[in-house]
Amino acid sequence: AAPATRTFRIAAIPADGVGEEVVAAGRTVLDALAAGSGGAFAFDWTEFPWGCGYYAETGRMMPADGLEQLRDFDALYFGAVGWPSVPDHISLWGLRLNICQNFDQWANVRPVRFHPGITSPLRKADHTELDWVVVRENSEGEYAGLGGRNLSGRGPGNEVALQTALFTEHGCERIIRFAFDLARQRPRKKVSSVTKSNAQQYGMVLWDEVFERVAADYPDVETESVLVDAMAAKFVLKPEDLSVVVASNLNADILSDLGSALAGSLGLAASANLNPERRFPSMFEPVHGSAPDIAGQGLANPAGALGSAALMLDHFGLPAEATRLRDAIDATAAAGIRTPDVGGTAKTTEITDAVVAELG
Ligand code: ATP
Ligand code: MG
Repeated sequence: AAPATRTFRIAAIPADGVGEEVVAAGRTVLDALAAGSGGAFAFDWTEFPWGCGYYAETGRMMPADGLEQLRDFDALYFGAVGWPSVPDHISLWGLRLNICQNFDQWANVRPVRFHPGITSPLRKADHTELDWVVVRENSEGEYAGLGGRNLSGRGPGNEVALQTALFTEHGCERIIRFAFDLARQRPRKKVSSVTKSNAQQYGMVLWDEVFERVAADYPDVETESVLVDAMAAKFVLKPEDLSVVVASNLNADILSDLGSALAGSLGLAASANLNPERRFPSMFEPVHGSAPDIAGQGLANPAGALGSAALMLDHFGLPAEATRLRDAIDATAAAGIRTPDVGGTAKTTEITDAVVAELG
């Protein structure tokens, strides 16, 4: 008898702006992969209409029991959150960070990939020989949400606000170990740790100390510690020296945007918010935001969302399918089928159709 079909239950949360367009692209491509799998695997989708539109109707970004509704899915496939009508901190904390924090998605993996035929601003070539991954601490650090307003007690004009970064030894250690384990699976076994410990003398010094201690357990992995300002320069001047870059929440957020810009567009970058213990579903989403300037026009580059779908396939234990999908994205770019952000004239749906055709 034929082996039973493995069905993966996925919650799709397109949310706002181009999120809807790129999640639709990802669903189409994943369904095409499943259709071609000869019954080996299938995807069972449930879509949740949450985000800034939902907020306008209900005053909430997601329902009060939203996390309960998501808890039993095998993965979450997310679009982008935010719209000019809703303050960013409300939309972000109300949906995306609410999910990341409560599902303990403490590791955020953001590969920096260069695509054939898509010109990098780096040295005006496509630089497909470059390949590194930003590993972002995703549960504490500068985005711990600690601090307060109006702390001076002296009224308007004299306000004092405090924004505190939280670093725990446990939090540092688990993300640094994650980075070393990832480095071991890559051709170049190297981890670059990023802090600003010359200027931030508590949390970042703790991070540096934990990094040194963990590194001793991985003698086969090359290491370096680099200040974040120097690392920003290194991304541009010596990227061939990078394999896994591990950094705190804020620093890795900035560096991964820089990485995707070097590849040619923010629309290219993929990301996985992982709960490595698999107690909760992990969430896969493009790095870019809702892009209100191009939303609803069919102009969004779906490559970041499609790359995120490939990371989801890796997470499901389907690495050969993930590679097939990445190759199809690359072949489409190489064939000159590109959205305007990377110098082309193709629509989101044309990229999607071309990727599906490559898979066929
Ligand atoms: P966030 O705060 O959510 O990260 P943001 O304010 O940084 O969002 P984005 O919404 O990511 O900004 O948009 C930044 C720029 O990148 C915009 O000009 C937008 O059009 C462009 N951009 C973002 N995503 C895409 C995409 N998928 N395809 C093409 N262009 C994109
Ligand atoms: Mg941004």
